[in-house]
Amino acid sequence: MMRLEHIGIAIADPKKSTELFDRLLGKSGYKQETVESEKVTTHFYDMETAKIELLVASSEGSVIEKYIQKRGEGIHHLAFEVDDLPTEINRLKNEGFQFINEKPKPGADNKMICFLHPKSTNGVLVELCQTIGKNENMDFEN
Ligand code: ZN
Repeated sequence: MMRLEHIGIAIADPKKSTELFDRLLGKSGYKQETVESEKVTTHFYDMETAKIELLVASSEGSVIEKYIQKRGEGIHHLAFEVDDLPTEINRLKNEGFQFINEKPKPGADNKMICFLHPKSTNGVLVELCQTIGKNENMDFEN
């Protein structure tokens, strides 16, 4: 079963946007983390039923930088947590969905992640994630 884990929001100016979201959400983020391989720095807010993930480019050539140049700041992706990522990837492939990366890679917040291509999901970038260590059966060797 899929559970809405977080909503990713592309931001350009971390200082300005974290101040704005602190005021909007009435709380501070609980975690800031840079994922070097993705060239992105994340700021997480725990909103209980799901998290908000602010995404800012951490270096040049980041996908977030390109996204903002093309489409501006705003909602970037929806992330669904699943219990068994390989099984869910297979299920969605069999359903005809296309992946940007079907081999899960390390993401922020102790998760393995992969993305579906928005052209197969009605224009919505969808992330699938699974918490590392939550399922003994997780095998991402290849
Ligand atoms: Zn995400």
